[in-house]
Amino acid sequence: MARIVVVGSINMDLVTTVRRRPEPGETMSGEGFALVPGGKGSNQAIAARRAGAEVTFVGAVGDDVFAEELRRVLHDAGVRVSRLRRVDGPSGVAAIVVDGNGENSIIVVGGANSRMTELDDADLEAIAAADVLLCQLEIPVPTVVAAARHARANGTAVVLNPSPVQELPAELWAEVDIAVVNEGEAAQLGSALDAVPHVITTLGADGAIYRGPDGITLPQPGVRVNVVDTTAAGDTFTGALAAHWHEGPEIALAWASTAGALATTKLGASASIPTRSEIERLLSR
Ligand code: ADP
Repeated sequence: MARIVVVGSINMDLVTTVRRRPEPGETMSGEGFALVPGGKGSNQAIAARRAGAEVTFVGAVGDDVFAEELRRVLHDAGVRVSRLRRVDGPSGVAAIVVDGNGENSIIVVGGANSRMTELDDADLEAIAAADVLLCQLEIPVPTVVAAARHARANGTAVVLNPSPVQELPAELWAEVDIAVVNEGEAAQLGSALDAVPHVITTLGADGAIYRGPDGITLPQPGVRVNVVDTTAAGDTFTGALAAHWHEGPEIALAWASTAGALATTKLGASASIPTRSEIERLLSR
């Protein structure tokens, strides 16, 4: 079983559905509301755990009503939360409005995620003891750099999902072993990815493509499913890939692509992430 440490974000998504967006200054009735636990770090941690890895989450929640629920979701999924800290102020939240045309508007408030500025000795020990460090960019970049540098120095493989995409210091790229990007991110990052030994570009329904250190590419065809909601498909793909990376790119890609496809068959974020046995059942078909 791979040992994975995720250093990343955890959010509560506040999802309001409306027929149309309000005008400035307007008050109107919405159609529905849901609280959906998420954040790329948390989603990928749960995905890696369900795909079969032992996972420790390093991150922060605030001192508000969302904090306990966010911790519970990780804990109930079997993710270790001993390195999840509680800081003053709000937890990370994403205020999402979905209108009648299915268009989203999203406001992310980093909250506790923005305060993940320090890694302590216990965090660093966990990273050093892990097989894989898995990071995204919803916490401050210097923290990601510190985690990646410590991982590299201790023989822990570094997987980076550079999302939300942004320009990154060359010192971070130098520490990354495996990058997982979607097509938009790949286009925006361009030649920065050339420095990374293993790059996996996800292609939605068409699966993914792998490029290795020798320049050899490996296509991973998409898995045909009945798509209901693609939320968290990318996070599920990345978590499953990290969980199976030790079995080699070919096997890891098959797990990732199957898990990502299954995540699109159910509504929601963490609730749609498939279990190991669900992935295995589809893989063996
Ligand atoms: P993101 O959601 O991050 O933009 P993609 O759209 O590329 O990323 O999707 C990530 C992965 O999720 C894909 O590589 C694939 O495994 C799976 N996936 C996404 N959409 C579909 C789909 N319509 N059918 C099957 N698999 C899908």
